[in-house]
Amino acid sequence: MEHLPIFLDLNGKRTLIVGGGVIAARKADLLLRAGSEVTIVAPELGDELKMLNETHAFNHKVEKLIAEDLNGCVVAFGTAEDDSLNDDLCELAASAGILVNVSDKTESCDFIMPAIVDRTPLLVAISSGGTSPLLVRMLKARFETTIPAAYGRLAEFAGSYRDRIKKLIPNLTRRRRFWEAMVSGPVAEHLFSNQLEQAELLMGSQLKEAAVAGDKPPVGEVYLVGTGPGDPDLLTFRALRLMQQADVVLYDRLIGEGILNLVRRDAERIYVGKLPENHSVPQEEIGKMLIRLAQEGKRVLRLKGGDPFVFGRGGEEIEALSENGIAFQVIPGVTAAVGCASYAGIPLTHRDHAQGCMFVTGHEKDGKLDLNWNSMIQPRQTVVVYMGLSSLGAITGGFVANGADPATPAAIIENGTRAGQRVITGTLESLPEQTKEAGIKSPALIIVGSVVTLRDKLSWFADKS
Ligand code: SAH
Repeated sequence: MEHLPIFLDLNGKRTLIVGGGVIAARKADLLLRAGSEVTIVAPELGDELKMLNETHAFNHKVEKLIAEDLNGCVVAFGTAEDDSLNDDLCELAASAGILVNVSDKTESCDFIMPAIVDRTPLLVAISSGGTSPLLVRMLKARFETTIPAAYGRLAEFAGSYRDRIKKLIPNLTRRRRFWEAMVSGPVAEHLFSNQLEQAELLMGSQLKEAAVAGDKPPVGEVYLVGTGPGDPDLLTFRALRLMQQADVVLYDRLIGEGILNLVRRDAERIYVGKLPENHSVPQEEIGKMLIRLAQEGKRVLRLKGGDPFVFGRGGEEIEALSENGIAFQVIPGVTAAVGCASYAGIPLTHRDHAQGCMFVTGHEKDGKLDLNWNSMIQPRQTVVVYMGLSSLGAITGGFVANGADPATPAAIIENGTRAGQRVITGTLESLPEQTKEAGIKSPALIIVGSVVTLRDKLSWFADKS
């Protein structure tokens, strides 16, 4: 993040603008709307500022800027056409420790001004950090059309009840549910159609209901959500919706930053990561944690890489939940085989190559692979091996020892669907050495079968590593 977005309270506080043109007028208008006491330093005022001065008074100083002008200022703006005037401002402001914004000169800016969608008291600020004003304008237009003007009314209404509801519903989780129901329910609908009285009435009866319910925590629930192999675009709508509602999230190392960033900002985060060879939080512990958090009334989000029911131990987790009478939902995700294969340009089935596909785990039990080689080594079949990186040699060796042709095409995909995706293709014979040479790391997926040869034809759009 290159800038920290904040919303400044300028009410009754001093600000200063150097320059008297159109840009100065636009800045002055914003500052005055925020309640600031504005001083314009400019030899003369343009028409826009003169007009503004008729409705919103500001101070005007004709003489050159001096250090004292900045006394008590919170922020200052340089909008003069003459660069030297803006430079003077930057110098004086820097020694006074005042933050400056110079129009169209990012390098001289301590802060940048976002585009805003104003639904006071609701405000949306958008910035591309100066990289793409066009994109910012597009987004602003989108927000302007999707955030009804009445949202401001809704925010104001909610604000007027805030303290009362805080006292009435001390339990944080229950209180949040109350607000969620309010902003997406009939009270909001009445406000949108400007029926304030009906909204007040409804709110009154909901407050009574809340008082009767007391401060018992609400009933908790667990969402077992498959997040796909890594690219956040592969999430389902349902996954995203539940991620936005969660009170607490349990995640592990397969869940990338991009996906975690989409979880509700103030949800509590618990890392229950497993490192290969080193199961840091035992499965049983995770199960217990899910139960305890749900019993506290929380909406517990358990994120799973890929699909929860494909080598995800999702079955074990929900078994523990149902034994304890905890409500849960399982949300499927794109499993690694499917996601990685398509991003690598390798179709898992193909009329000319494979009529079937098998998913197996290469995880060793007591140092040994427990695989049914006969069913894996079948003509016109693709085999995808999960968790097979550390036993790659034993896997490819196992194929060959059980009758597969050493020249059978095989591929390994590291970090599939993510920014650092790497794909290596070869044969059962060559793949272990190639993998070692390239230093492939976990997570990695192995694909065995003649479909691998299609990658060169089909991956023109994907990475060509
Ligand atoms: N439930 C998951 C699988 C979990 S097992 C799913 O449905 O995809 C973990 C294994 O999945 C890893 O060892 C690796 O083989 C594979 N895997 C998961 N994400 C991957 C990715 N982005 N790239 C390559 N392999 C991945």
